Amino acid sequence: MSIADRARQVLPGGTTRTTVFVPPHPPYAVHGEGAIVTDHRGHQVIDCNNNYTSLIHGHAHPDVLQAATEAAWSGTAFGLPTASEVTLAEHLRERTGIEQWRFCNSGTEAVLMLLRAARAHTGRDLIVRFEGSYHGTGDAVVSPGAPGVARSVSDSVLVLPQNDLEALTAAMRKHGDRIAAVLIDLMPNRAGLNRADYEYVAKLRALTRQYGALLAVDEVITFRLREGGLHQEYGLQPDLVSVGKVIGGGFPVGAIGGRAEVLSPFVPQTPGAVSWGGTFSANPVTMAAGITALGLFDSQKIAELNRRGDELRSRLHDAGVAVHGSGSLLRLIAPDPTEVWWSLYRRGVLCGTNGLLALSTAMTPTHIERVGQAVIDAIDPKDTAQQSQ
Ligand code: PMP
Repeated sequence: MSIADRARQVLPGGTTRTTVFVPPHPPYAVHGEGAIVTDHRGHQVIDCNNNYTSLIHGHAHPDVLQAATEAAWSGTAFGLPTASEVTLAEHLRERTGIEQWRFCNSGTEAVLMLLRAARAHTGRDLIVRFEGSYHGTGDAVVSPGAPGVARSVSDSVLVLPQNDLEALTAAMRKHGDRIAAVLIDLMPNRAGLNRADYEYVAKLRALTRQYGALLAVDEVITFRLREGGLHQEYGLQPDLVSVGKVIGGGFPVGAIGGRAEVLSPFVPQTPGAVSWGGTFSANPVTMAAGITALGLFDSQKIAELNRRGDELRSRLHDAGVAVHGSGSLLRLIAPDPTEVWWSLYRRGVLCGTNGLLALSTAMTPTHIERVGQAVIDAIDPKDTAQQSQ
């Protein structure tokens, strides 16, 4: 029996993650090293998925592995804090200027924690977020009326079109004094990896201040684009941020950051404090890997990787491929992402199931050249031109 057949018997649809499923069934990874993944049939691909943007240094980076292994030999998890969570929080503070941090195990959990913090801090219920943006799988951030989500959840969430100033102003005027937070991804992947307008974001900051709502930026994907996250490019001071992916060096992670005053509901001694545990939160293996991975990803490395991404995007664009994104994150816009996925996979490139390409520092110029050629060969520019209109 094939592994896919075995999987279908014990996992619904044969998969654990909807986000890695491609019909009829994805290949299985058996080995990752640097920029290359080998599947169960021995086929090798250049990894442009990088576990959905999280493997900033590709697979099995020796320094990251050494840090994680050393940590693991001293114990993988404790019912006590370890110094490593303090070190990673200090590192994040230095990169971002954001005062305090709390760790968890995924971006989904970080967004849940962020919303809880915002509601606890403001004493308000309503959350504003934007159409098409993905913030993980929490009830409040999936589509209103999504199967399995209580209808009442949508009463506490307002979904607006991003970059529509009129809609934002009207919503703030009507509901502003009930809004705990506005949650924005400045370059939402699912919505096509298009950036939020600068003017719009400035107005959003002003309006949230005016109405006493918090401005929360989801940097789970975009953190890799600048030393302290994409919001720095906007000159923006968010009240809360959620991060994940690259900050865990390839291990499960999430975190929120904010001013001490905003995160004060989590202070255990406070009367009425928000109680938030997490058996594996801030485990020393993730923390050690994250500290090492981020240490190897300074502003020079970030700029270099972004430059390579910009060059690849220009090349694809010049070849007639519809491609969005910024820096090291690219998004192919094609009518049938599954067809593109398989077409690229056969040509030796692994992308996201929605056409996302995320570069890693493990890629050489030759890898990137091969990725560019594979995309040009895999995509018919006529199709993508129609799609992007
Ligand atoms: N927020 C954003 C912007 C994301 O892109 C994602 C995941 N791709 C999440 C939150 C959820 O993160 P995780 O998959 O680690 O739960």
